[in-house]
Amino acid sequence: MANVLVLGGGFAGVVAAESLAKRLGHEHQITMISRQREFIFYPSLVKLAFGQVEVGDITYDLREAMLDRRVKFIEAEVAYPDPDNKCVVVPHGEVQGKIPYDFLLFALGRRLATEEVRGFYEHAHHLLTVNAALKFREALKHFHAGHAVIGYCPNSHLAVPVFETAFALDRMLKERGERENVKISIVAPEELGGQLGGDDIAPALQNALRDHDVEFVPDFFISQITDKQIVDREGKTIDYDLGMLVPPFSGPGEAQYTGITDPNGYIRVDRHMRATGAHRLYAAGDCVNFLGPKMGHMAVLQGMVAAANIAAEIEGHEPVARYNHELMLVIDEGGKDSIYLQKTLWEQSDANVKQGRFWGWSKQIHQKYWQKIHA
Ligand SMILES: Cc1cc2nc3c(=O)[nH]c(=O)nc-3n(C[C@H](O)[C@H](O)[C@H](O)COP(=O)(O)OP(=O)(O)OC[C@H]3O[C@@H](n4cnc5c(N)ncnc54)[C@H](O)[C@@H]3O)c2cc1C
Repeated sequence: MANVLVLGGGFAGVVAAESLAKRLGHEHQITMISRQREFIFYPSLVKLAFGQVEVGDITYDLREAMLDRRVKFIEAEVAYPDPDNKCVVVPHGEVQGKIPYDFLLFALGRRLATEEVRGFYEHAHHLLTVNAALKFREALKHFHAGHAVIGYCPNSHLAVPVFETAFALDRMLKERGERENVKISIVAPEELGGQLGGDDIAPALQNALRDHDVEFVPDFFISQITDKQIVDREGKTIDYDLGMLVPPFSGPGEAQYTGITDPNGYIRVDRHMRATGAHRLYAAGDCVNFLGPKMGHMAVLQGMVAAANIAAEIEGHEPVARYNHELMLVIDEGGKDSIYLQKTLWEQSDANVKQGRFWGWSKQIHQKYWQKIHA
């Protein structure tokens, strides 16, 4: 009998646990540990901020969902894994102490490194948690005029919600009859389209920005935020009245002293999703060290590869499933300018870009579909 521990109940952890339950016989134990018992569909946090969905529409109870798949769910805080002693240290929660494992999947996501931008914590809105999205929703209610600056900091690895927020804000202000009172700008530490597929997506984004009268400010490396200004590392400033910024990311703090991380704290993995330098330890999702954006569908594919290889090892085979880094995203613009992009990142191939109302609609359906399949 093998004892498999899955750390984290996000996209990577959920898909991996479900896949392991399907692949492994009942004699094996699969346990998921996560600090909260809800699964959160993060791509819908923009809609939550704009009041288009409520919290209950984008979350579901993980314990019940996992139980249906014979995965034991433990609500607890993970301090760190101890790969030398094949256990995970859990300081508090439904269980405490050292939890042993035969195989471990680390899927705790990334850390928000807000300390890298002075004043971020005090002054910026962000959309990276349910509470932050609800706080931004309150701020939107009271915003009627001025300069709205939306953007992402260096090392943030997440640009989709920035564009979606700018487009949703434009629509909301038009509905309220307040659009002419507001200037909307997006600031980014790169050219248009940078981490979203570069030149392949730039023309489609340009169309959408023009239609929504949104200014794009490239090569702006946010280094400080005050109550009135956003400051670039060279001292350039932009005055703002409403700000929504994606903070820098770093690798998960829980992996910090384990010897399996790169200089940015992300877990080094091979294409089988095995952590390099640790035995029977796999990692998947935002916590791994692959370059480029960090997206939910990457976490899903990585979780599936990790599960296939853990199951293979338990059955006495070599891991053969390999991950291929691919960018697939939809920017829901709310109408005909919605964009779909699919592009392989490790192999030379043409990007597939489409623009139209269908793609925004398909993203909204995807959230409902996910809930139906996994909840
Ligand atoms: C606003 C927003 C919009 C986005 N839009 C898109 C999009 O359009 N398309 C797309 O593909 N991706 C999008 N993403 C990115 C996507 O949500 C992430 O890439 C994805 O959630 C990563 O999955 P994960 O399983 O690696 O980590 P997460 O989803 O972050 O899950 C980590 C899990 O670990 C748990 N955890 C963390 N630390 C601990 C601890 N110490 N102890 C116990 N449990 C812990 C958490 O509670 C959580 O269950 C968006 C993200 C945000 C925030």
